[in-house]
Amino acid sequence: MSVLSVVAGIARGAAGIAWEAPQSTLGAVNFAIELARGGVSRVTRERGRIFVELRGSRAISLGHFVFWSTVDAPIVRVGPYNKEHEYGHALQSRMLGPIYLAVVGVPSTIRVMYAAAQYLVTKKPWDGYYEGFPESWADRLGGVPRRSRAAR
Ligand SMILES: [Zn+2]
Repeated sequence: MSVLSVVAGIARGAAGIAWEAPQSTLGAVNFAIELARGGVSRVTRERGRIFVELRGSRAISLGHFVFWSTVDAPIVRVGPYNKEHEYGHALQSRMLGPIYLAVVGVPSTIRVMYAAAQYLVTKKPWDGYYEGFPESWADRLGGVPRRSRAAR
């Protein structure tokens, strides 16, 4: 291995961290909060990301931190594929870099708010949560074998 290739590797690593810095910073803050509240079940290093399994039904992908769970939430079903779904969001983060929070975070948050609002009326989880942007895209990227409502 030449000095040049080592330097190039370090530069690539630093560029990758800078590219996703806004969401990774929020991820680091969220990680500290989850550690403090005792919400972390397990931490693993996989596919260049830090996977954090949470005890509750919270799940979010923030840059290099992938928070996932298998515990269902009352407003949105988490199901057995949450880890791969959140990894799909991590791939979106890698693709979109500094615009990830605007392009994926904002519409995803709006979908959660919609799910919460409809739960107040129906008292059921929203089955359509994963069927629209950016959730269906995260499913595809993560290889989630979720069946759509239309296929049921
Ligand atoms: Zn999602």
